[in-house]
Amino acid sequence: MNESRPESMASFWMPFTNNRDFKAHPRLLVSAEGMYYKDVDGRSILDGTAGLWCVPCGHAQPKIVAAVREMVGQLDFAPTFQMGHPAAFDLAERLMEYTNHRYGHVFYTNSGSEAVDTALKIALAYHKARGDASRTRFIGRERGYHGVGFGGISVGGIAGNRKPYGVMLPGVDHLPHTHNLELNAYTRGEPEHGANLADELERIVSLHDASTIAAVIVEPVAGSTGVLIPPKGYLKRLRELCTKHGILLIFDEVITGFGRLTTPFAGDYFGVEPDMMTTAKGLTNGTIPMGAVFSKQFIHDAFMEAPAGIELFHGYTYSGHPVACAASLATLEVFKEQNILEHAAGMAEYWADAVHSLKGLPHVIDIRTIGLIAGIELAPIAGKPGVRAFTAFKKAFEDGILIRTTGDIIALSPPLVLEKKHIDELFGKLAEVLKNLD
Ligand code: PMP
Repeated sequence: MNESRPESMASFWMPFTNNRDFKAHPRLLVSAEGMYYKDVDGRSILDGTAGLWCVPCGHAQPKIVAAVREMVGQLDFAPTFQMGHPAAFDLAERLMEYTNHRYGHVFYTNSGSEAVDTALKIALAYHKARGDASRTRFIGRERGYHGVGFGGISVGGIAGNRKPYGVMLPGVDHLPHTHNLELNAYTRGEPEHGANLADELERIVSLHDASTIAAVIVEPVAGSTGVLIPPKGYLKRLRELCTKHGILLIFDEVITGFGRLTTPFAGDYFGVEPDMMTTAKGLTNGTIPMGAVFSKQFIHDAFMEAPAGIELFHGYTYSGHPVACAASLATLEVFKEQNILEHAAGMAEYWADAVHSLKGLPHVIDIRTIGLIAGIELAPIAGKPGVRAFTAFKKAFEDGILIRTTGDIIALSPPLVLEKKHIDELFGKLAEVLKNLD
């Protein structure tokens, strides 16, 4: 038996996993470098998903690895409650630079889910601090994914993440999702049809009155529900309506932040600025868990006008963990030194061509691409939703490529450092998997 194999797999209760199926046929990764994982049998697996959308600069970037090693030896932990350490402050400054100073402040969390709950809480506390305590409602969107905290699943719009639990945050409405296979099939970039769906916000506002609504939260591009790209003009319209009604607009950029669309954030790509952004994943190149909420200056100002004392009663033991900060500082340097965004932009067209070349293969009913992201939708097997794509995922892994599936949609989001040869390998192998599916 390979010595890397665990003695037993019984005790790890795996997240978002069919535990019984996995443990019968495990897929175990033991190392990673650049564009590839190695599995426990020593096979190379091309990473078509940047882990879980979180390794934009590729695996084992030497600078990030060195920064983590150095910090863990120097300052393994330091509180950020009534204390601090230089890296947390340095990183905040660097992150503000990364947004061209369009945001004033950053609040650290450990994950995307925590970033979402933090942003929702900041929204409530912001309105309250301004004497607007009646603004307590949130508006999310169908097919939205905002992590797994109670705030996140409440504003999220995925039945499977909500139904098992029953209780949700009260006072939440959902905009309709924007996915329209009939009108917008096989899009490259933003779909033509559907901007009018943003006007549903007016309808929801009129049901409750604007004075009761704290924030709207959406992913600029919904990732986890299968790469749903906003129709042209949709996000701008949401922005206009939020401004008109004094509602905060939160973009959940946990997937789209740090270059996924070849721009620093998706808001930059679409030319729309939210009032807060939630981020995680690429923030540290996936190396150390970390999330962050970026907030506009005016939001922070409202807290600073309160009487002296603790301004925001919120935080995590590991907010601004020194090792995470070191990883993030190094990640930002890698982005700059290796021109990661420029490289990604240079690959986007070749990527889109390759993805759309799958059109016409068995079971493919839609393909959508934007930046370095792709959704390939397969026709479901009658009565067995998700089974066809999951079978493709397993076959792809056997053939040496890591893809991700959600329902019957294959979602791809490679490290941004990929080269044309990786695109060729990924789609060469994926085409074979699709041709031989059933
Ligand atoms: N928001 C979005 C848009 C996400 O895609 C995710 C994770 N895929 C999250 C929040 C949750 O992040 P985490 O898993 O780090 O809690």
